[in-house]
Amino acid sequence: TKQIYAFSEGNMNMRGLLGGKGANLAEMTNLGLPVPHGFTLTTEACHDYQEHQKLSDALLTELDTALDQLRQVTGKTFNSQTEPLLISVRSGAAISMPGMMDTILNIGLNDETVVALADLTHNERFAYDSYRRLLAMFGNVVYGLSEDGFDQILTTIKQQHGYASDLELTAEDLKQIVQQFKALYGTDNVPEFPQAPKDQLLAAINAVFESWNNHRAQVYRKQNHIAEDLGTAVNVQEMVFGNAGEDSGTGVAFTRNPATGEKQLFAEYLLNAQGEDVVAGIRTPQSIDVLKKEMPEMYAQFATIATKLETHYRDMQDLEFTIEHGKLYLLQARNGKRTPYAAVKIAVDLVHEGLISEAEALLRINPESVSAMLHPEFDPETLAKQTVLTTGLPASPGAATGQVYFTAAEAKAAAETGKQVILMRQDTSPEDIEGMIASKAIVTSRGGMTSHAAVVARGMGSTGVVGAHEITVDYQAKKAVVNHQEIHEGDWVSVNGTTGDLYLGQLATSDATVKGDLSTLLDWAKDTASMGVYTNADTPQDFQKALDFDADGIGLTRTEHMFFKPERLLQMRRLILAEDAEGRKAPLVELQRMQQDDFYQLYKLAGDKSVTIRLLDPPLHEFLPHDENEIQAVSHQTGITPERLRDRTNALKELNPMLGHRGDRLAVTFPDIYQMQVRAIMTAVLRLHDEGLEVHPHIMIPLTDSKSEMGWVRQLVEDQLTAMMADQDFKLAYTVGTMMEMPRACVTADQVAEASDFFSFGTNDLTQLTFGYSRDDVGSFMPEYIKQGILPADPFQTVDVEGVGALMKIAIEKGRSTKPELPIGVCGEVGGDPASIGFFNTIGITYVSCSPYRVPVARLASAQATL
Ligand code: ADP
Ligand code: MG
Ligand code: MG
Repeated sequence: TKQIYAFSEGNMNMRGLLGGKGANLAEMTNLGLPVPHGFTLTTEACHDYQEHQKLSDALLTELDTALDQLRQVTGKTFNSQTEPLLISVRSGAAISMPGMMDTILNIGLNDETVVALADLTHNERFAYDSYRRLLAMFGNVVYGLSEDGFDQILTTIKQQHGYASDLELTAEDLKQIVQQFKALYGTDNVPEFPQAPKDQLLAAINAVFESWNNHRAQVYRKQNHIAEDLGTAVNVQEMVFGNAGEDSGTGVAFTRNPATGEKQLFAEYLLNAQGEDVVAGIRTPQSIDVLKKEMPEMYAQFATIATKLETHYRDMQDLEFTIEHGKLYLLQARNGKRTPYAAVKIAVDLVHEGLISEAEALLRINPESVSAMLHPEFDPETLAKQTVLTTGLPASPGAATGQVYFTAAEAKAAAETGKQVILMRQDTSPEDIEGMIASKAIVTSRGGMTSHAAVVARGMGSTGVVGAHEITVDYQAKKAVVNHQEIHEGDWVSVNGTTGDLYLGQLATSDATVKGDLSTLLDWAKDTASMGVYTNADTPQDFQKALDFDADGIGLTRTEHMFFKPERLLQMRRLILAEDAEGRKAPLVELQRMQQDDFYQLYKLAGDKSVTIRLLDPPLHEFLPHDENEIQAVSHQTGITPERLRDRTNALKELNPMLGHRGDRLAVTFPDIYQMQVRAIMTAVLRLHDEGLEVHPHIMIPLTDSKSEMGWVRQLVEDQLTAMMADQDFKLAYTVGTMMEMPRACVTADQVAEASDFFSFGTNDLTQLTFGYSRDDVGSFMPEYIKQGILPADPFQTVDVEGVGALMKIAIEKGRSTKPELPIGVCGEVGGDPASIGFFNTIGITYVSCSPYRVPVARLASAQATL
């Protein structure tokens, strides 16, 4: 099969074969945009290389043909003294991995062609600048020579001459640098720099194929869930030169602001420089406004192309461009990485601009990233009182506070001990990826909005401030200096990625809210989604939060959580410790008084939204004192002797409490507790009725495993309700449903449904019982199971489709065979997990219920599941 495609032969839909970069270079070529000529070695060539550990003969033959074609369109050949061919070799996988793999520029230069290039361009400085770059990149990528070695030489020569920037290096300096760079080659382990351009090319292709497996690429793939076996393509492209003089330059652009999403061309460029300089953050680049002033025509051309590409791809683009002697070239286009905020704004704006549909906008937002937008912000009042330490570029919004570390390794180590870490550096490189992942925020003193640090921070949704040039980091002394102020390793700082401001110390944060474009998007999601999104809430505060996030109601109130407040715990303990039903009466009255007030508040907040209340679930001994100190304290409070307390606690103790005396089993042995809860519900409902609000309570019974058990408990509940209705002469519409969390209940769901008005899957217990994993103890082996690939994911976080999912399907099918309209919800942890939600949508779940902060995530996921 064909393993090499000229740019003119490909298109944007071939990213699997040509990689993202290659496919888009082809697409731009075919759009008639100024793209330097070149060709792409396919990902299949990469697979072939991985398999045989060498470039195949067939590939080498195709390569010669491709080079010949390149000669025909460019008129240039390797080693020519008049028209020397110089090329770049650029990696590019199907999924973009910025800076993660390797690229080598200026291939084709050697001791002779460099002289020819100098003569031809009458620019010796340029020729040797290009050569020294090739020597450094080639040495690093192909032979693994450390970048530091090359940097050191450069820095020393700059220091000797007192230069502030690379731009001041003269042709003579660069020649000397070239000599010194070459001297790093030809040692024991490192061969001489290959003079033959073809050898350089072959070695570079090999190295790019190899780079797929380097450590930082592996870490990046793991972090971003990119498959290991995709492989990378290799692009071979004629060089154009941004370092050819003052009328040349190179830049990186976003067609919209990648941090905020604002519609404004956003670019940074460097005069007289080669591409890598901008991205590596070596020099802080200038804003595109300078280009607009100095080369208005270039700017206008570029802006037109940017708009054209954005319209063509129907998404914000990240572009790389180079200007050589006043001529513009495009070197890369891809959908730009952006912060969650920007992603939402851009998607909504594109809908308003008529470029994409609401459905497309919904599908473009990663539901998980929405939760990043709900993270706290610095409290405005606190901020107003602070002095700003220094300000950099607001590269990635958010509010972070943590302790400062200056190297990626130390940041990672500190984070592993549970610290909140801020990584502060002069600049970052792809090697720092693990430290960056571990950090709450990234701060650099150099680099622009498109520097590596900025791109990575945005990609991970973590806070980032870059180019805070008043900061000088002294890595040796483990400190940074900002305006004479010292920051030492471990000091607390606060970073505002939205403004670029830095503060000393730990600043207070406040809750974010859903507003603006996010709320527009979530409204679309609500109109689209077929499943409802409810919340698990036990307190009015939680419920209010969920209502702010537009929850449809409460899918689960765990009444026991209400009992853990000190005052209530006391009554609960008196109840459990009572000798008999008689002794339970007084504490039950107290508990009912408190619960009915809780229910009243939840119902009132809910208005006409529905609220499902689950009756008491946990084993009773959870409420009892656990150690001698507590026993003494409780004895003091209740007047019960410590001996009696100890006896009672021991009596209630179980070997396997999660499989023990809990849930509706308590209803059978202590019916007065459930009766009390039902009275509390009914009393709250009656009170609201008097106030003009009609509430239809939904009462949920936990842990049910059979129809007869459910029937028994239902009778208990209904007797109580009926008695109260008769007493108050009041007709109440209510439902009583089953928590589906026992495998037995699932497989007999047709029977259970006869006694139930609704089902709600408690996936935590159902998973626990299906696997036989104790939920509270899985920590000891689960990580290993996932690492070894025995489990694809933690089934308590993402539903186990094959096992638990199969039981759910059976339960749904059987339940609805009895009651076709049976409402069926999910209220476990996985109710807020996007991947699980996708599955629930396919099996006919009516609604999911999750914690308040997951509501917007679940809403979007449920819309995507519907689409
Ligand atoms: P990455 O995937 O890390 O962005 P690239 O392959 O895009 O690596 O190369 C990095 C930079 O090198 C590009 O942004 C571009 O500025 C420069 N570059 C690559 N190929 C060429 C070329 N043929 N001519 C001029 N500059 C190039
Ligand atoms: Mg690039
Ligand atoms: Mg449960």
